[in-house]
Amino acid sequence: MNMKINENFLNLSENFLFSLIAKKVKQYKEANPTKEVISLGIGDVSLPLSKVVVDALVKASLEMGVKETFRGYPPEFGYNFVKDAIRKYYLKNSVDLSLDEIFVCDGAKSDLGNMVEILGDNRIIIPDPVYPVYVDSNMMAGRNILLLEGNKSNGFLPMPDGLTLEESVIYLCSPNNPTGAVYSKEQLKVWVDFAIKSKSLIIFDSAYEAFIRGNYPHSIFEIEGARKCAVEISSFSKLAGFTGLRCSYSIVPKDILDGVFNRIWGRRQATKFNGVAWPVQKAAEAALSSEGLKACENNINYYLYNALMIEEVLKKNDIYYTGGTNSPYIWMKCPNNMSSWDFFDKLLTEANIVGTPGVGFGKSGDGYFRLTSFSTREKTIEACKRLDKFFKEMK
Ligand SMILES: *Cc1c(COP(=O)(O)O)cnc(C)c1O
Repeated sequence: MNMKINENFLNLSENFLFSLIAKKVKQYKEANPTKEVISLGIGDVSLPLSKVVVDALVKASLEMGVKETFRGYPPEFGYNFVKDAIRKYYLKNSVDLSLDEIFVCDGAKSDLGNMVEILGDNRIIIPDPVYPVYVDSNMMAGRNILLLEGNKSNGFLPMPDGLTLEESVIYLCSPNNPTGAVYSKEQLKVWVDFAIKSKSLIIFDSAYEAFIRGNYPHSIFEIEGARKCAVEISSFSKLAGFTGLRCSYSIVPKDILDGVFNRIWGRRQATKFNGVAWPVQKAAEAALSSEGLKACENNINYYLYNALMIEEVLKKNDIYYTGGTNSPYIWMKCPNNMSSWDFFDKLLTEANIVGTPGVGFGKSGDGYFRLTSFSTREKTIEACKRLDKFFKEMK
């Protein structure tokens, strides 16, 4: 066949991280069938949907089977009742959005990937380590990517220092996956000022904003000037446990490029996306009701308490880490300058704990390791005991 393919796909690195982890764990368990292996590597919520969400889901599903309440294609950008609920959710942080700046979709991952399509060939700035979707979706489009190194000295929160003033697309994720690091208001202001000065666009991923407990911005639009230079992509996945249900939203202010960016994003969505299912949108609305938000908060507090226990062990053993407190992720420095994978193997075979090698999130992640708080309370307690013993024995 002479058909041409998009050869950019051939330049992507193999997506081997989670398959290699699974393979190593499987081999270890087969060789050691009596050992109880605990995973602190889960990158997905584990608590079930709240009752108020399930009730809305069931009710709306039943409506689909009745002639009078049956619904066909939903509006491409979401029903107004969901957009209105999102609008009210943002008003709590004094961010005032208009309904036509909110686009409801089936996942932040889709939105992040799809937004590349409506952008031309700009310089792409991506902090490293980070959620791999930003790098991979820009690689697929053949873009030039500049990675900004996260490290101990910047607390894994790279800033624009030293960047030339050139139109760029800047990806920021706060609280960050995998490092759990959160940008302060002052730091985001520096980014927004840089974006305005360099005529750049910030794509702000706030998937974990609901985990913030300290005084940090939940939305980029809490920063003065952001409406001129930023879009925000967020999701019900981590807020309300919708990873299996699928509902997200993107916010595209009309102040960017005199409304053109908002219009072409709408055009893109209306052409290639046919909307989120009625029961899912009713469930999303329920998640943002006062009862729904209370349930979200309870679940997130459960994870954050797990995170706190892990943090205590690291503090006690003098191990540098970022995250926890405002994030489900704890990003720790591997003791004795071990590489991410050497530490993975040692932790698996000696403490029977699975985590995620930091290098899997970018080359600046080597020497670091991600632990997550998405396991159960009981397993996290047991894992913490093992971790404490393990670190003491390493000294
Ligand atoms: C989980 C996650 C998302 C959410 O993705 P969905 O497709 O909405 O489930 C977005 N960004 C980051 C950084 C994430 O970790």
